[in-house]
Amino acid sequence: MQKLIVANWKMNPETAEEAKKLFDSVKNGVKKVKNIEVVICPPFIYLPLLKGLALGAQNVFYKESGAFTGEVSPLMLKNLNVQYVILGHSEARKYLNETNELINKKIKEVLAVGLKPIICIGEKEGEDKNKVLQEQLKECLKSIEKKEFEKIIIAYEPVWAIGTGKNCSIEETMNSVLLIKKIIADLYKKEIAEKIRIIYGGSVNGKNSREYILKGGVSGLLVGGASLDVNEFTQIVKSVD
Ligand code: PEP
Repeated sequence: MQKLIVANWKMNPETAEEAKKLFDSVKNGVKKVKNIEVVICPPFIYLPLLKGLALGAQNVFYKESGAFTGEVSPLMLKNLNVQYVILGHSEARKYLNETNELINKKIKEVLAVGLKPIICIGEKEGEDKNKVLQEQLKECLKSIEKKEFEKIIIAYEPVWAIGTGKNCSIEETMNSVLLIKKIIADLYKKEIAEKIRIIYGGSVNGKNSREYILKGGVSGLLVGGASLDVNEFTQIVKSVD
């Protein structure tokens, strides 16, 4: 299976012109890579402008259409050829008060229209990782049909590692991957746990990226800050090809 490298641009850049420039430079920089699927997740308004790499959204609402002022539906994204949606990002949990229950509704609607959810989970500094991951996985994946799991990507993103420069050690990442697989095996089935794609995010850069793929047991990376720097991001992609 191809490795997945996901760029989360967050609320950047400020203009459509800059977004197009950044996108085209990344597209050019990664055009020779073979074994990687590069997914760019820009702010919603730039999605229709960007073509030539896989696209993801950074969030979505859980209804198809209707009186939900300010929201965007999974179907609208699908109609723009978007393939992935980041859900449950720690910044959405923190600033928009997103709960596991809400994230679960979003995951179901995203799957219903055929998009692939990238579900972010992870503990805050000082929290009991086992307890947090158990709770997040149990509640976010509640009543999701087994056949849907091939579309699901779990992003292990310890909150203390996001945007801090303190990336998670390879050993701890590997242990977290095993823990996530065990929790999913207990909730569902061993075969589902073995097959599910797990990626890592949190202060990934061009120097540490390769180790995660080689030794961290993950099948991809979610890159925030470093995805806004063309050279750094291109280096990350090439390092894992
Ligand atoms: C993220 O926002 O998902 C992320 C991993 O950010 P950063 O790479 O900046 O830590």
